[in-house]
Amino acid sequence: MGKEYSLSHFEYFKDRDLSHSLDTLTGILNREALMGYVNWLIENNRKFSFFLVDVDNFKNVNDTYGHLVGDIVISQMAAYFVKMSGKQGVVARYGGDEFIILCEDVSEYNDVWKIGHEINMRIGGIVFEGIPNLAITVSMGIARFPLDANTPQKLMETADKALYRAKMKGRNCFIIYLPEKHANISLKKERDKQQTQMQLTYTLFGNLTACGEDISLAINTVFKSFISYYMFDHICLETPKNINHSIVFTLSSQKQFKHIPIEMIDSLINSAGYISLNNVEGLNEDSYGDIMKEYAKQQIKSTLYCKISSYGVDYGYIRVDTSNTARIWQNTEIAMVMTAANVIGLLLHYQKKTLEDLPLVVPTEAGSIE
Ligand code: GH3
Ligand code: MG
Repeated sequence: MGKEYSLSHFEYFKDRDLSHSLDTLTGILNREALMGYVNWLIENNRKFSFFLVDVDNFKNVNDTYGHLVGDIVISQMAAYFVKMSGKQGVVARYGGDEFIILCEDVSEYNDVWKIGHEINMRIGGIVFEGIPNLAITVSMGIARFPLDANTPQKLMETADKALYRAKMKGRNCFIIYLPEKHANISLKKERDKQQTQMQLTYTLFGNLTACGEDISLAINTVFKSFISYYMFDHICLETPKNINHSIVFTLSSQKQFKHIPIEMIDSLINSAGYISLNNVEGLNEDSYGDIMKEYAKQQIKSTLYCKISSYGVDYGYIRVDTSNTARIWQNTEIAMVMTAANVIGLLLHYQKKTLEDLPLVVPTEAGSIE
């Protein structure tokens, strides 16, 4: 971080020797030093907000560019956080790809929201030296003192719960801890759930292969389990004429999803039979202006389409949407929805049906893991 790194404008750090408190890789404050500061703030009853920041899919950076480049990215991010926080916040490396930004005196929801929003917006714009095409996003869990916790440990647990929720919501977003929404999150339970990705596969195959003639009921069960597990805002079958089996996540702020002509979608689909768009605003307006208007109208930010096809016949799509935040689609999510699309395609083929033969199901609201 160099000689200019100084925290002396904060009372706690004023006369403190930081030489043994710095993280060796990044040169910013290490975890122990930061937690000492948190202790002091709590003891002195100073309000603050505590941002636990975790880089999204950082393992991919290591896998693609190697650990040395990964180290450089972590260092550059640390420097960026310090620059961005200026004199408003103290930045520390908690460990691995996790950082903490602590803002003394800031604890009002709206003020915290503005900072969270700005961090998410600005991170997308960082250009990393030597890797100009690398786009990094972060997820954040935010806890506040004295509102959410009265010990450093409780504060960390609270921020961790909110961070977990941010990751589940699709990454590239922040969650400010609110007891009425997040107090019941049991990280152990949620992590156990994470390991049961396999159970989703059982639900998928179990229902779709044992459904007999009633494909509709099986699709509904599978979609509901997807939506509650992955916290998608919306999932539906996009047929040539309409949308069917439209299920909206209980916590989704957008409830009105409408049919989008599938000819508009066809040109987006890749050779593997799907398209995953983290942010639909990134589409080329000249080529995709019409569909972009449709997305804007329906407040869709991220979308995933998986083609339902079998033996050379295309039936339609499974469409998944998220409003509000730009979801970073995970390979496991795409693979799961793609598998469902392939199995539905096979069922339609063997039962000599099309998606239009399935009864229209009224849109339902379903799935909340809170
Ligand atoms: P997620 O979006 O869920 O956070 O996915 P992720 O891939 O970022 O996974 P996670 O945060 O759980 O793991 C962080 C990874 O960062 C694990 C490890 O491979 C890598 N990592 C941790 N510390 C360092 C480091 O000092 N240098 C490098 N190059 N990589 C690190
Ligand atoms: Mg990470």
